[in-house]
Amino acid sequence: MKGENRDMTPEGLQAAVQMDAADELAPFRSQFVSHDPDLLYMDGNSLGRMPRATAQRLQQAIDHEWAQGLVRSWNNGWYEAPQKLGDKIGRLIGAGPGQVVVCDSTSVNLFKLAVAALSLRPGRQRILTDAFNFPSDLYVLQGCIDLLGGRHSLQVFPSQDGIVIDEDALLDAIDEDTALVTLSHVAFKSGFRNNAQRITQRAHAAGALVLWDLSHSAGAVPVDLDGWGVDFAVGCTYKYLNGGPGSPAYLYVRRDLQTAVRSPIWGWFGQHSPFAFEHDYRPVEDVRRFLAGTPPILSLLAIEPGVDLLLEAGIDRIFRKAVSLTSFFIELFDRDLSSLGFTLGSPRSPDQRGAHISLRHPQGYQINRALIEEMNVIPDFREPDNIRLGLAPLYTSYQDVWETVQRLKRVVVEKRFEKFSPERQAVT
Ligand SMILES: *Cc1c(COP(=O)(O)O)cnc(C)c1O
Repeated sequence: MKGENRDMTPEGLQAAVQMDAADELAPFRSQFVSHDPDLLYMDGNSLGRMPRATAQRLQQAIDHEWAQGLVRSWNNGWYEAPQKLGDKIGRLIGAGPGQVVVCDSTSVNLFKLAVAALSLRPGRQRILTDAFNFPSDLYVLQGCIDLLGGRHSLQVFPSQDGIVIDEDALLDAIDEDTALVTLSHVAFKSGFRNNAQRITQRAHAAGALVLWDLSHSAGAVPVDLDGWGVDFAVGCTYKYLNGGPGSPAYLYVRRDLQTAVRSPIWGWFGQHSPFAFEHDYRPVEDVRRFLAGTPPILSLLAIEPGVDLLLEAGIDRIFRKAVSLTSFFIELFDRDLSSLGFTLGSPRSPDQRGAHISLRHPQGYQINRALIEEMNVIPDFREPDNIRLGLAPLYTSYQDVWETVQRLKRVVVEKRFEKFSPERQAVT
């Protein structure tokens, strides 16, 4: 399919070819498995592509560490893996060693840290979040409030346009009754990026704590947890970190808070000496107290090759390319898509966005289906009308962006979407 429409917008294509030729990160594309050169994979912000090195790493883990090493492998790297890999992920998010562990899912980690944070502000009642936060985060917070006896309230700060949050107004909403401010650093739908440093500073000035969800920002945009003075953070590893489906998440607890807080789940991996098999819980004196049970070792080991690629590329270069890919997309949107019923569902300012772009269209769901079924493009769909396109900088080219816009255009111009029912499938 590639190439059919090239003569329609030769200038755009030429620019794409030139930017690809000048792209320092272009060689990273071949570090990822690709079975279909025609496929435009625009969903790396939902499930990242598989690094080539991952298959080898897992083969070694299965053949040598599991099949041969058996239980001995716990003393040959497995036991320390959650913290060692956590330290490595820490380098992507500005966290010094000893503050990040890999464990559980993002939702579970958010639960553990939210409960821990609230225990540090016993007199305060309010949890502040926004309407852009991931629904699972909102459910977890509602569950925390219920568990703690209904003493807290959840304030969900609204957005006027569904694209950005009025930051000054959000800052004004933080007061002496705010126990915890918890937000997504980059919003899953519009891609809006909060000014995490400024919000953290204001929360601290009001005596509140902050908990950032980095799921849509880690590996795509700069994060400086230590530098910003963040208290707590969580994030997932299967999006821009390319860790694989359901790979375990991570959590960050700033060093000076680690012994002041406890996990609500007192498991043996958070115990001071798990293999003493004591009857009473005594938490270990560091971030590992937020570990609960035995880690999923195979899934955990599969995360490292993707993180290594990101560290090698460097987050500054990755972010520069994210800005340039998304800016190019918006340029093409203005020229080719804005007259076809699409509106831009993401901020225009690169200071306010991450590495994905949302396009809104009244027939968004059907267009999304046609892209997948007929055009060999994989974005995803987020209610009510957002087609979400993730432009993961390590393996997305400028020509991919150009070609994606051509195929989007064809779906609408040729009315290909009309064949598809607006009835939603289980996973969108
Ligand atoms: C993807 C994502 C999650 C995922 O949570 P899981 O517990 O891994 O399912 C959580 N929060 C945000 C902001 C996300 O983008």
